[in-house]
Amino acid sequence: MYYSKMFIPTLKQSPADAEVISHQLMVRAGMIRQLAAGIYSILPLGLRVLKKVEQIIREEMNRIGGQEMFLPSIQPAELWQESGRWELYGKELLRLKDRHDREFCYGPTHEEVITDIIRGEVKSYRQLPLLLYQIQTKFRDEVRPRFGVMRGREFTMKDAYSFHADEASVQEMYEQMKQAYSNTFRRCGLEFKIVEADSGTIGGGFSHEFMVLADSGEDAVAFCDTCDYASNIEKAPSRTPGPVAPPKKLDALKKIPTPGKKSVEDVTQFLKVSPQQIVKTIVLENENGLVAGLVRGDRQLNTVKLKNLIGCDWLNPAPESLIASKTGVPCGFIGPVELDMKVYADHEVTVMHNFVTGANSPDAHYTGVQFERDLNVAQVGDLHEVREGDPCPKCEGGRYQVKRGIEVGHIFILGTKYSSIMKAHYLDDQGRQNPMIMGCYGIGVGRTAAAAIEQNHDDKGIVWPVPLAPFQVVVIPVKFDEDRQRQASEEAYRVLGDLGIETLLDDRPERLGVKFKDAELLGIPLQIVIGPKHLDAGKIELKSRKTGDSELIDFPAGLQIIPEKLQNL
Ligand code: ATP
Ligand code: MG
Repeated sequence: MYYSKMFIPTLKQSPADAEVISHQLMVRAGMIRQLAAGIYSILPLGLRVLKKVEQIIREEMNRIGGQEMFLPSIQPAELWQESGRWELYGKELLRLKDRHDREFCYGPTHEEVITDIIRGEVKSYRQLPLLLYQIQTKFRDEVRPRFGVMRGREFTMKDAYSFHADEASVQEMYEQMKQAYSNTFRRCGLEFKIVEADSGTIGGGFSHEFMVLADSGEDAVAFCDTCDYASNIEKAPSRTPGPVAPPKKLDALKKIPTPGKKSVEDVTQFLKVSPQQIVKTIVLENENGLVAGLVRGDRQLNTVKLKNLIGCDWLNPAPESLIASKTGVPCGFIGPVELDMKVYADHEVTVMHNFVTGANSPDAHYTGVQFERDLNVAQVGDLHEVREGDPCPKCEGGRYQVKRGIEVGHIFILGTKYSSIMKAHYLDDQGRQNPMIMGCYGIGVGRTAAAAIEQNHDDKGIVWPVPLAPFQVVVIPVKFDEDRQRQASEEAYRVLGDLGIETLLDDRPERLGVKFKDAELLGIPLQIVIGPKHLDAGKIELKSRKTGDSELIDFPAGLQIIPEKLQNL
């Protein structure tokens, strides 16, 4: 393409709301423009990159037998009512009505639609397994759309669904997917980790996320410094605490006035105890009312772990006003002794003695609390969030490290969750009817491109990995309107085109400095600079965006080495 003919509206300044570098650079490089919060127009340069990501995904899906399809984005409410998600999905689901007042939603995902198709068409185990996928627009009315296309409301996702007659078959597919995803992200030039992910109360732990490590990531990843265990922090198990010998004397329960001392920090200072001697009581709300979670004073409650332990549909921090009205106790003084709600304790709390808790009356705490003697706990489990330095539960001597990650892909064994409720049955070889076993597998296309920028940029702009670059080479004449330079540039452009290289020819009447700045901002991996001095010697300059290294090559013969150069970048 000739630069002057292209629509690449670059900007010197980033938009004020662009917090992360990928968002800033995608806007500045003229790849995207915001239309409304979390809704972006993809401009030509941006689309070239997204199409690259899509093509890599497509090739890897096809390689494991995936068949591409395209499902509607507008979906009837009835299907979602059938699966129960019309209620459960909440406000993220964009609902709309047609002229006949019928309810629809804009698809945030497609389990219902695909299950509906398959139940109508697939009857026998002979037709299974099946792997179907699409690359399509989703809409999720995210609470906090941000970071450009990384967390948009409208975004492109590759979603795949598989259907199986038995557990072994879905397991095999899951492993193939893991491999296909690894290939995809490796080919996109990303450094990533495959981490265990929360799969809720169903799914038996069969869920993995593909995380691109980057400081801007919204997720936290815990991984062992010794073995290869890695997990989303939402799920990362903590090591079961060993038994602790009880102290010689178990103190009696004693109520102490602690006026205005609400936080763990206040109480440690006031009572001269360490946070490890305090038990925090966190009150949450679920579909059945209020529940309390207990963790040691220096720990954070992991609500995902608690939700899974309870097995409830949802679990959120309870508003202070609700807690106060239900218990009559102001926040900060709630404690587990004789608390009128179900209490769940982290396993670390069970080995504590003589500890401090809120006393369930204003401005007071208990000291000398004993787990067995004083508390009535519904269930004990691993409920605290792990942190850097905690021992790895999977190996001896390993310690957790914690880093930020961007979730670019997610694979999931769904089991019979949708097929049972939506009656997607098949007949097995004995003629018996069974629900199909399903898997689902997603990749965020825009998020993958943004993650690539998070990992590959410098202070001048984007440094595209070759496979995602919108153009692989940019030809920059010092002065395009000079005959010899123009002819040489056009020849280079033609030769590169013949070699199958996507080339941008910067034919604009701009100063050389401007052309360099734009080439750097756009992140094109190789620059070819054509100037009078080197042309005199039959040479042109070849420069790497990544390293800034340049070399002189023969013109035109030297152009033949460019495919190889690109391979080795
Ligand atoms: P997240 O926890 O980030 O909200 P999710 O678990 O809701 O992600 P999935 O439903 O598994 O995501 O969707 C599959 C993939 O789609 C994700 O791995 C991610 O790459 C992408 N994705 C999800 N939500 C968004 C979004 N709001 N904007 C862009 N991409 C998204
Ligand atoms: Mg989400």
